[in-house]
Amino acid sequence: MTMSRAAHVALPDLELSAAASLFRGLSDPSRLALVQHLARGEHRVMDLVDHLGLAQSTVSEHLACLRDCGLVTVRPEGRSSWYSLSRPELFDLLAAAEAVLAATGERVTLCPAIHASAATPSSRPARGRPSVSAPRRRRGRAE
Ligand SMILES: [Zn+2]
Repeated sequence: MTMSRAAHVALPDLELSAAASLFRGLSDPSRLALVQHLARGEHRVMDLVDHLGLAQSTVSEHLACLRDCGLVTVRPEGRSSWYSLSRPELFDLLAAAEAVLAATGERVTLCPAIHASAATPSSRPARGRPSVSAPRRRRGRAE
């Protein structure tokens, strides 16, 4: 009457392509910074620009994306719009990421394979210009 060890605990099968899209969405450093900061509470665009030192266009672009993705909601109040995380599960996701990183140290940040895949065109945001994480190279076309 023992359960097979292969029968994992009751974890649902992730829909892999959707999960990959979610993680890809969070892989942009500016977008991740916004999500992490919004976990601290509601902010207006101008607050986020101020607190994170990002350009307003960057903040607005990423907030629009995060809203489209259903990860962020906006609440109008007078002339202001207050942004917050729409899903409490995102707190768990950030906490889980922190725990994984605490356990694995710098190995993720040093992994050349991860950085190589992050440089592929498919990882770019759907709209707008390439993010700061994907600087365009102008020189060194020798190869
Ligand atoms: Zn803040």
